[in-house]
Amino acid sequence: MFENLSERLSGVFDRLTKQGALSEDDVKTALREVRVALLEADVSLPVARDFVKAVQEKATGQAVTKSVTPGQQVVKIVHDELQNVLEGDNEEPGELRIDNAPAPILMVGLQGSGKTTTTGKLAKRLTEKNGKRVLMASLDIYRPAAMQQLAVLGTQIGVDTLPIVAGESAVQIAKRAKQQATLGGYDVYMLDTAGRLQIDETLMQEVEDVRDAVNPRETLLVVDGLTGQVAVEVAEEFDGKIGISGVVLTRMDGDGRGGAALSMRAVTGKPIKFVGLGEKMDALETFEPDRIAGRILG
Ligand code: GDP
Repeated sequence: MFENLSERLSGVFDRLTKQGALSEDDVKTALREVRVALLEADVSLPVARDFVKAVQEKATGQAVTKSVTPGQQVVKIVHDELQNVLEGDNEEPGELRIDNAPAPILMVGLQGSGKTTTTGKLAKRLTEKNGKRVLMASLDIYRPAAMQQLAVLGTQIGVDTLPIVAGESAVQIAKRAKQQATLGGYDVYMLDTAGRLQIDETLMQEVEDVRDAVNPRETLLVVDGLTGQVAVEVAEEFDGKIGISGVVLTRMDGDGRGGAALSMRAVTGKPIKFVGLGEKMDALETFEPDRIAGRILG
């Protein structure tokens, strides 16, 4: 998911580690290259700038250039700083607040971002890994095909879906899901809201109404990781309007530039909880800053 960035950085660091002694200028030049590599990966400019500044300060502060293995020291500092920018608060990767049954999870995002697929993936994970009883409901009253898609996924993964009733509003469906989840003894109910091709007022108002009707424990924004900085802008907008608790970045199996993963936390303050790595129902991973930092550095 970070092939290009990873390649660029290992080029820079290979040169550094082979060099033996390092001057401050060598470090500066290397960090300039790191900055360009980050920007090419579509990391947002302030994030790239702050990142390089933090590394620069630590590299000089620790008298790296005088150490025995200066190149490796710089790599270590970069690793730690990557982890830092990805991490934020120290919550457990993939942890969701779903203790009070039935816990509502609201799935939001633009159409085509992978929302319905991710709803299925997450329901499967909660069922199989966490032993939860999950009910899924589609609130996409505009696209009967989307409702059908969730029902088909449910059958495929063995997770219950709320029966489809024609003519209900999104809020009515949400309330019915809550009722059925309570009566049926479910631990979690997931609401797959309708997406639009772009953010619009009607979409946001509808999601707000649903949010107010069920008071979700988690509101997860699903965004296409291939869209780089746009993904971060979408997250800011959804967060401003409805408040999100976390992000799922999809299509991280593609040859995207990975920048969204690096900027998301720093720009929005919201954690990436999971990444989607394919179309299959088990292609979902928790987002682990340490491992991701390792992956970026190759
Ligand atoms: P929605 O409109 O947001 O509900 O989007 P869908 O869930 O219908 O997904 C749109 C397309 O993206 C489908 O073909 C999915 O199989 C595909 N998709 C979703 N997540 C991923 C992912 O992580 N990787 C890849 N390669 N494809 C994905």
